Amino acid sequence: MREPAAAELRGLGVSPGAAAGPVEVMAPPPELPPPRPVADAAEEARLALRALEAVEAELEERALAAPTPEARDILQAQAAIAGDPMLAAGVRGRVEQGADAAHALHGAFDEQARLLLAAGGRFAERVADLADLSGRAVAAALGRPMPGVPSPGRPFVLVADDLSPADTAALDTAAVLALVTERGGPTGHTAILARSLGLPAVVGCRGILDAAASGGLAAVDGTGGAVRTPVTEAEAAEVNAAAARRAAEESAPAAPGRTADGRGVDLMVNIGSAADLDGVDLTGVAGVGLFRTEFLFLGRYEEPGLDEQAAAYAKAFAAAGDRTVVVRTLDAGADKPLPFLRLPDEPNPALGVRGLRVARERPDVLETQLAAIARAAAGTPARVAVMAPMVATPEEADGFVARARAHGLPAAGVMIEVPSAALRAARILREAQFLSIGTNDLSQYALAADRQHSGFPELLDPWQPAVLDLIARCAEAGGAAGKSVGVCGEAAADPLLAPVLAGLGVTRLSMSPRALPAVRAALLRFTFAECADLAERVLAADGPAEAREIARTRHNERGRS
Ligand code: PEP
Ligand code: MG
Repeated sequence: MREPAAAELRGLGVSPGAAAGPVEVMAPPPELPPPRPVADAAEEARLALRALEAVEAELEERALAAPTPEARDILQAQAAIAGDPMLAAGVRGRVEQGADAAHALHGAFDEQARLLLAAGGRFAERVADLADLSGRAVAAALGRPMPGVPSPGRPFVLVADDLSPADTAALDTAAVLALVTERGGPTGHTAILARSLGLPAVVGCRGILDAAASGGLAAVDGTGGAVRTPVTEAEAAEVNAAAARRAAEESAPAAPGRTADGRGVDLMVNIGSAADLDGVDLTGVAGVGLFRTEFLFLGRYEEPGLDEQAAAYAKAFAAAGDRTVVVRTLDAGADKPLPFLRLPDEPNPALGVRGLRVARERPDVLETQLAAIARAAAGTPARVAVMAPMVATPEEADGFVARARAHGLPAAGVMIEVPSAALRAARILREAQFLSIGTNDLSQYALAADRQHSGFPELLDPWQPAVLDLIARCAEAGGAAGKSVGVCGEAAADPLLAPVLAGLGVTRLSMSPRALPAVRAALLRFTFAECADLAERVLAADGPAEAREIARTRHNERGRS
């Protein structure tokens, strides 16, 4: 009998790697039964509140046994929502108005979810968390088992509408081969936890629930964001064998980044504080390509003083040894609100006072920060460089470089996050010593798509040819000036994209430490001439899906050879 042809579904690859195996669809939460009359409101309220307490206690218990710190934090946050007195008040109020326990719980969670949806962006992505809590509480009130992940007793690909934090956090990584969800965005819990657990994951994969309903085997490509189902046993075995070969390549001893013919590409790491370097093997790593300094300022109502800042920077420099550390000056505003600046509310914060523009209102903040970086740099073997975020014009770039020089920091560059700066890269490099491309913001501004909005993953995709064109323009300017042009946004962590970026002339890739082995191995698969050829073909693609497919085909050819 012939196997049915596998359908390929596309979603957002949020955690790299590939795996294939039998699919298991997660059981939905219990159906809400028809409302029933309530004889004793006080007893009904006790029943509903006991259900909430049971959910809270169960989540706290699972938090204690959580496999990772991220999982523990998420489960504790979920437990805190279940234990929120406001929620309990909402449930009580509904019972007083005549609702039974299950409907009172469902209604109270629903109201919270509507508030989050109305708030939009990251808040809206949290709606799945509340839906999960609601399902659990209703199950507890009805005396049913809590909904959750199946355990068929053999490894499987987990398919769900959307995974809740509680489900994801408690996943048994020995049993789950990969995750695929019908909904979900790039910053949701599924994405964060799948990455932290090292599980290949595709989210926002429309149609997967229908495709998986008949069972069978699925092949998941968490790097390229593709899921094929049903696949044959032989295809599944080939996918798993290729993944094992990749894993072996990636576990090769760490060496400096280079192409197959030895063209160097600096591999660097992104950090938010010295602690992010704890336990990180820096063998073969050229240093820190992005030190996001705003973490020191987050949640503060007073600016950290020069001494406190210098001490924090010195710690990070010490952890980097004699490597390069690129410190980004404060990137406040929009997605990184910093209360101490007391910036007035704006209708369009992402287009308002953020990044280097804060120095127009508060030049003293930049001055103190540069002084603190210079003081910390003076006592370290690390090669310290500084760069400014959200630069839009050559004048802004020149102004920043001049200020840095005045503080004795000659290695001063800028981030390229705004298309106008990419277009004027050659001019900016007259004064700036290097460029570092922030693809997260560059995509946002080039495609006019809010990076905090979960509705436009394809527009925020760094494989958009327009974004790659802007990167190419910067890299070309860097080549002509003999200066370094790096990428430090999420795009740098994509192993499929790494040879393309190298082929465009990018000389540095800075990413989360976890991403280093896969990116290092990907670069080694191609000579520089092959990278350049691949880049040319990818630039000629009509859209991100085609661009990624071109690269994926080439990588797969290499993976088999
Ligand atoms: C970027 O925009 O790509 C970047 C690296 O900066 P952040 O994500 O911190 O805005
Ligand atoms: Mg940015």
